[in-house]
Amino acid sequence: EQPSTTPHITIVPSPGISHLIPLAEFAKRLVHHHSFLVTFIIPNDGSPSKAQQSLLGSLPPSIAHVFLPPVTLDDLPAETTRIETIIALTLARSLPSLRHEMQRLQESTRLVALVVDPFGTDAFNVAEEFGVSPFLFFPTAAMCLSLFLHLPTLDEAVSCEYRDLPEPVKIPGCIPIHGRDLIEPVQDRHNDAYKWILHHARRCRLAEGILLNSFEELEPRVIEYLQGEEPGKPLVYSVGPLVNIKQSSKSDGSECLKWLDEQPKCSVLYVSFGSGGTLSYDQIQELALGLEMSEHRFLWVVRTPNDKAANAAYLAGDSQIEPFEFLPKGFLERTEGRGLVVPSWVPQAQVLSHSSTGGFLTHCGWNSTLESMLNGVPLIAWPLFAEQRMNALMLTQDIKVALRPRANAESSLVGRDEIAKVVKDLMEGEEGRLVRNRMRELKDAAAQVLGEDGSSTRALSELVLKWKAKLVNQLH
Ligand code: UDP
Repeated sequence: EQPSTTPHITIVPSPGISHLIPLAEFAKRLVHHHSFLVTFIIPNDGSPSKAQQSLLGSLPPSIAHVFLPPVTLDDLPAETTRIETIIALTLARSLPSLRHEMQRLQESTRLVALVVDPFGTDAFNVAEEFGVSPFLFFPTAAMCLSLFLHLPTLDEAVSCEYRDLPEPVKIPGCIPIHGRDLIEPVQDRHNDAYKWILHHARRCRLAEGILLNSFEELEPRVIEYLQGEEPGKPLVYSVGPLVNIKQSSKSDGSECLKWLDEQPKCSVLYVSFGSGGTLSYDQIQELALGLEMSEHRFLWVVRTPNDKAANAAYLAGDSQIEPFEFLPKGFLERTEGRGLVVPSWVPQAQVLSHSSTGGFLTHCGWNSTLESMLNGVPLIAWPLFAEQRMNALMLTQDIKVALRPRANAESSLVGRDEIAKVVKDLMEGEEGRLVRNRMRELKDAAAQVLGEDGSSTRALSELVLKWKAKLVNQLH
């Protein structure tokens, strides 16, 4: 039997939900606008979350998915192993089964490209074995991509920890940034997580092209740099913002949406720390009391406090619905009607597009940032882990769509007074008005680049043409 002549793209996402979200959107564009077939081949450690499953289940029939056999990670030392190592090893240990799956798909279809995210560049070897093009999907800001490409050079030039450098680091195309604000896994150069990031940073240059989830109007200087020709630097296609704009991924969230329906326009501050961000017990007390003192309306997605790591829930799968015993005494009663506290998860796309939502206190995850932008909702930046400090810096100092509360130097907590102040500044102050206006400009720009003749739509079409040409070559 002859394989079909429809181009088929395989996508290998790293574990967790947040890379899957923009990749799913990317896949939808390939099948809806360009009639491709897409298969997600998913490495995992045996615990796909409900959010993942419901997202995958909602995809159209031309987008298939297979979970690879779970890998074991029991041999990793629990105390020192960071999340980046877990993610990178889950992928590395899945290569034999990935090969197997590619073999199966190649028997009946025309594989053209294999797309990975920044933790998956080891799969490029598999792509090569099957004669398909290796591509990288970069799910965060262009500034981070520039750091990623620059990291091997930086690694050679600097011998101390980056945070101990007296001068700010100069990443090509970016505002100068202090070493302590660089992505979290480069903060301890002796940890394996750093070695993994460096490994992938070196290998990303093996990609035939890099798909970037950003757009020129948002990060003009750095994207101009990235798109410039330089020996050994893959072509960069800015195809963003690709975000989950419609469906809920986990629950229907009807309760919180109903509650939003009853609030005045632009009056609610949405408070959430992404798919897995957690705060310490003490920080939750301050945040609760600060929200209360601000006297503004809020919708807060709360997770059980964790005093050890801010990314505690990222790969944890589904956190249980818990009673809110850790909230300050009487807080729920005193804020009843004005505030709604929801455990773990809400349909964020719908919350941000709701007309009652007027601000977003966010951990600055890139999806959350872009989703807010698509809806013109200004931010309060509260970074926790991964590349979020870099995002926060860019959002406050460069593109100026966010306000940022200061942590107390001694306790490193953001205090209740500071929180109340920043909430008021955003929701009713002059500074808030300015960032809101700027966010609305970016909302228009985002809609434009995604439109029929927009730059992101054109970048994707350009790539699709290359992939189709490759298929024609294969057939002859
Ligand atoms: N998300 C959601 N409901 C929640 C929390 C998160 O739908 O209660 C979605 C959110 O819309 C976003 C993603 O999960 O698309 C989180 O990605 P982000 O990059 O903001 O942060 P991360 O989870 O990677 O820290």
